[in-house]
Amino acid sequence: MRHTHDMHSEDPVGTTNATTARHITIRCQFCESWNRVDASRAADRPKCGKCGKPMLLDRPYPLTDETFARTIAESDVPVLVDFYADWCGPCKMMAPFVDEIARERQGQVLVAKLDTDRSQTTSMLFNIRSIPTTIVFKAGKEAARQMGAVPKKGLEALLANAGT
Ligand SMILES: [Zn+2]
Repeated sequence: MRHTHDMHSEDPVGTTNATTARHITIRCQFCESWNRVDASRAADRPKCGKCGKPMLLDRPYPLTDETFARTIAESDVPVLVDFYADWCGPCKMMAPFVDEIARERQGQVLVAKLDTDRSQTTSMLFNIRSIPTTIVFKAGKEAARQMGAVPKKGLEALLANAGT
């Protein structure tokens, strides 16, 4: 990672004493402009600052080779990424659990997914040898990794391993 910044803190994600807003950095899927979303307001269906379309954070957010590095590096919340492929049966089995985590941890964790066939550069960079592989990134760095499909509890354990 060329770009790291240690503004990371272990505070539980603020509902009450949000002194410093934490942001999620994502590219709008419609107009492709970059947005910084206040993580504590993720559930309010934030809209793209440019085109006004919703940025849906209650489900896994699709990342690509183009958007991956910046999202990981510039989001203040941990980012859980499901590295998957459309043809992968175990990935499909795990997908509903990833969806649930996205809903439940909305605003605390950015849950994302990356299609390893379409985004091979990122998959190679992180040495993805089997799918699904799930990685939690904190402050742009890998904090925990799970290879193979796991039930929801396994994803929760992964987040716990990453200190989230
Ligand atoms: Zn937009």
